[in-house]
Amino acid sequence: MNGIKNTIENPAGLPAGPEENWKPIPGFPGYLASDLGQLRGRKGGILAQQIDEHGYHRITLRDARGRSRTRFVHNVILEAFVSLRPAKLDGCHNDGDQDNNALTNLRWDTRSANTYDKVRHGTHNYGSRNRCDWGHEYTEFNTQMAKVSGGSGRRYRRCRACNAAGATVWYAGKHGEQLDFQQVADGKFETFRAEHEARLREDAQQLAEGQKRQAVAA
Ligand SMILES: [Zn+2]
Repeated sequence: MNGIKNTIENPAGLPAGPEENWKPIPGFPGYLASDLGQLRGRKGGILAQQIDEHGYHRITLRDARGRSRTRFVHNVILEAFVSLRPAKLDGCHNDGDQDNNALTNLRWDTRSANTYDKVRHGTHNYGSRNRCDWGHEYTEFNTQMAKVSGGSGRRYRRCRACNAAGATVWYAGKHGEQLDFQQVADGKFETFRAEHEARLREDAQQLAEGQKRQAVAA
């Protein structure tokens, strides 16, 4: 490797440790985008991202002719790793968190499916929402806190089920298998719920056994 180390928390929750992949950004020679949502400039440094009034990350890059262009970070990542932006499609965040620009959380989709509309209509107060965009409750077992990429130290809440599903769907896609995101994410949610309930039952059982032992000893 060339000494580039990933020092941020892995926002995609990808398995297998500190692996961060970088690809050139079409139309912007010298820049790189990573599958964890970061961008590198022409001198190799991590670029600071701006956040617009809707909460979307934006970046200003110079194109091949030296003109300054401002782009959505999520679109830049999709263009580097998936394809150029298809006509009439927008870059969308699977879990509705604009701060989560990991490739596994992004897809090209129709505007009607895009959280951008919801955000424009003022429902982007994630702190008070109790469900993600795919309908999963932000319960104790389904909520993760993650760091915004780029080193700002900002933290955000994300749906654990959608995050796990993003990785599953993306890996399946790499092997030519198309999975339904909603279905996979709903399945993850139910698995996490079952695990959580099993843990609660186990705790209750241990507590009861402890009390029994104490009663016998007394
Ligand atoms: Zn979700």
